[in-house]
Amino acid sequence: MAKGRGYAMKILITPKSFKNYKKMTYPLLESLGYTIIENSTGRTLTEDEIIDIAKENVVGIIIGIDPLSEGVLKNCKDLRAISKYGVGLDNIDLRAAKELNIKVKNAAGSNNISVAELAIALMFEAARRISIMSNNVKNATWDRVRGMELTGKTMGVIGGGQIGKEVAKRAKGLCMDVVIYDPYYDDLEFLEKHKIAHCDSLDEVLGLSDIVSLHLPLTKETKQIINEKTLRKMKSTAILINTSRGELIDEDSLFVALRENVIAFSAQDVFSTEPPSPDEKLLTLENFILTPHAGAFTSEAGERMALYSTENLINMLNIGE
Ligand code: NAD
Repeated sequence: MAKGRGYAMKILITPKSFKNYKKMTYPLLESLGYTIIENSTGRTLTEDEIIDIAKENVVGIIIGIDPLSEGVLKNCKDLRAISKYGVGLDNIDLRAAKELNIKVKNAAGSNNISVAELAIALMFEAARRISIMSNNVKNATWDRVRGMELTGKTMGVIGGGQIGKEVAKRAKGLCMDVVIYDPYYDDLEFLEKHKIAHCDSLDEVLGLSDIVSLHLPLTKETKQIINEKTLRKMKSTAILINTSRGELIDEDSLFVALRENVIAFSAQDVFSTEPPSPDEKLLTLENFILTPHAGAFTSEAGERMALYSTENLINMLNIGE
């Protein structure tokens, strides 16, 4: 068993689906002497549960979407590294981690293809209403829902990072026009190669787009970037796709916008509270659909996330030893 500063070193692994990749990853950690603690609750851990498990001897955590707040980090006194099983780091207090000298890394590039493909699937669902028509037929109703062609329409990608770029390429492949809005964007070669334009402002991309797809991190700056005001900048026929984070959208304003046809449709993989309350009003709308945060939930992405997050953790723990 690995000993660090006189104690046996443990690794907490919280994501439920990580156990599918045990054979590939556990030996890498165990061969270095780490003892693995699994999350046996079958759900996301609470702050108190994490503290209870990790307050002593846990030097590394492979984390899903469980909350690593300042309070949690301060109470995990042996913690030296956090490795995200995924990309979004918004459940981790990065400032507190830095102050406490805890390293943090995400599994960048592990799930961008899977999330991009789901965003495209949600776009098709919104444009052609496949699941509603299939449900109609299963309920003995041979009813069609009039759809919208995507060819020639404009896809506005907000956030031109790893996922946004994959979405943009696929939309080009579908003969759509594509524009990206990302104030920190610097990959001009990509724009040139794929004949994609860059918008200078949020208002511009919202006004131009038939489909708006969000691919940006949740930060103070991006929280509720889609709100009453910005929804009114969109076309009344527009489809909004959100596979990033629920909190990017002011959901009360979205409800009103969808009910009053300020925009046509919203198709999401994420929600501010997951799962949403059963009496969530957006769920009552016919022009709103939500999948259960399944963007990265493919065999291929799962394997990459497990491997990248394990390797990242090992590398972070080795540094400075
Ligand atoms: P990334 O870091 O590669 O790209 C994010 C991009 O957003 C960057 O280019 C950044 O410059 C841009 N950005 C930042 N602030 C912006 C702003 N105010 N306006 C416009 N653009 C802005 O991240 P990624 O891998 O593309 O992932 C994007 C997000 O997708 C993640 O942060 C995560 O929340 C979400 N995600 C969801 C799932 C899922 O299962 N649904 C899986 C993986 C990631």
